[in-house]
Amino acid sequence: MGISGKTVKPKVYIALGISGAFQHATAMKDSAMIIAVNKDPKAPIFQIAHYGIVGDLFKVAPALTAAVRAEKG
Ligand SMILES: Cc1cc2nc3c(=O)[nH]c(=O)nc-3n(C[C@H](O)[C@H](O)[C@H](O)COP(=O)(O)OP(=O)(O)OC[C@H]3O[C@@H](n4cnc5c(N)ncnc54)[C@H](O)[C@@H]3O)c2cc1C
Repeated sequence: MGISGKTVKPKVYIALGISGAFQHATAMKDSAMIIAVNKDPKAPIFQIAHYGIVGDLFKVAPALTAAVRAEKG
């Protein structure tokens, strides 16, 4: 996916540890909702993300999963 591959436009795009290099961002920036988790607050992905979390994905992703599971009951 990217300038070398396909373009995607999902309802929700979750970027875990994705820097947001333009070659990649070109292909997913028009997603309806972009949620980014990155430990680098200056990562370019945060410029196109609708929701961003600065942190270690190995801590944040399990916490998000648990929250979604709890919400679903
Ligand atoms: C000519 C050319 C064409 C290309 N075409 C494409 C293409 O078509 N598609 C494509 O996808 N790429 C393409 N690329 C490559 C692109 O530039 C990126 O290198 C690639 O998308 C990989 O990006 P990445 O975010 O996976 O890795 P990186 O850019 O290395 O970023 C890794 C990120 O993960 C974060 N991170 C690391 N560990 C953690 C952690 N524990 N918790 C949270 N965050 C963490 C870092 O802060 C960093 O921001 C191309 C490059 C070139 C030169």
